Amino acid sequence: GIVVLGSTNMDLVAYVPKAPQRGETVTGREFRTVPGGKGANQAVAAARAGGEVAMIGAVGTDDFGVVLRETLEHSAVDTDLLRTAEGPSGTAHIVVDDEGGNAIVVIPGANGTVDHLTPGDETLIAAADALLLQLELPLAGVIAGAEAAHRHGVRTVLTPSPAQPLPPELLAVTDLLVPNEHEAALLTGIADPRAAAEALLRQVPQVVITLGAAGSLHAARGAEPVTVPAPRVRAVDTTAAGDTFVGVLTVALVEGRPMPEAMAWASTAAALSVQRAGASSSMPYRPEIDAGRLE
Ligand code: ADP
Repeated sequence: GIVVLGSTNMDLVAYVPKAPQRGETVTGREFRTVPGGKGANQAVAAARAGGEVAMIGAVGTDDFGVVLRETLEHSAVDTDLLRTAEGPSGTAHIVVDDEGGNAIVVIPGANGTVDHLTPGDETLIAAADALLLQLELPLAGVIAGAEAAHRHGVRTVLTPSPAQPLPPELLAVTDLLVPNEHEAALLTGIADPRAAAEALLRQVPQVVITLGAAGSLHAARGAEPVTVPAPRVRAVDTTAAGDTFVGVLTVALVEGRPMPEAMAWASTAAALSVQRAGASSSMPYRPEIDAGRLE
């Protein structure tokens, strides 16, 4: 199975023609509350794609916490080890413009309490095929999870988002790093994705850089880099494209499918998700991904 150690957030989404600049007020078209958080999004993406998925993290004691837990359970994600921490749940304040672009403020709330593993967490991770991690939990929690997985020979897949410098002890236990091109550039100081991937391979054995509408790029030590194009679709909301991609990618890898095939399958899933509004609510189920049906 797949374990996700990560964040749960309630996404508070404003749809606007054009995002406001500092000091500016704009009238939006619509407001939605959408359960999200990078961890929860990746968990839902992987579960809908047919993975057996468990989530480690924390929701708050507010009403959002109840909804966040139910949302995971609704997509068949195991929440037995999802803690309930006194105080507010994490929230993400998202502005989506008419071109499908987004700008996001995240307030950690309960996620901020996940700075260590319980013995139960470690037991679950030890039995997994892969551990998915992002950077919306305290770094101490992320490192503890990745180190536990590494100790037990469990593959670690890290989305370095929100972008920040990665400590050497985290890189040392990362098997596959999946940044988008902006994160790859921030981590390396190199704008060209191919060259950035090359640089990242000095720190981790495998990298997949997502390139938005341009697809994704795989690089591994001792192999030629491979680019897999994304299906051409009309993007409505790219909020959870990267999370959909990495969740679905991991399901395919755990099933033993080769990397280029896994990337193509994940690209189809991500392309389906960007054509609909929302975060986890926009993610496709396995039959849709297999059919490759692009509306
Ligand atoms: P993030 O969502 O983390 O910023 P990207 O923008 O790179 O990451 O998107 C992740 C993946 O989602 C891409 O590799 C691609 O497969 C898919 N994707 C994103 N935007 C589009 C788009 N406009 N058309 C088709 N696929 C897209």
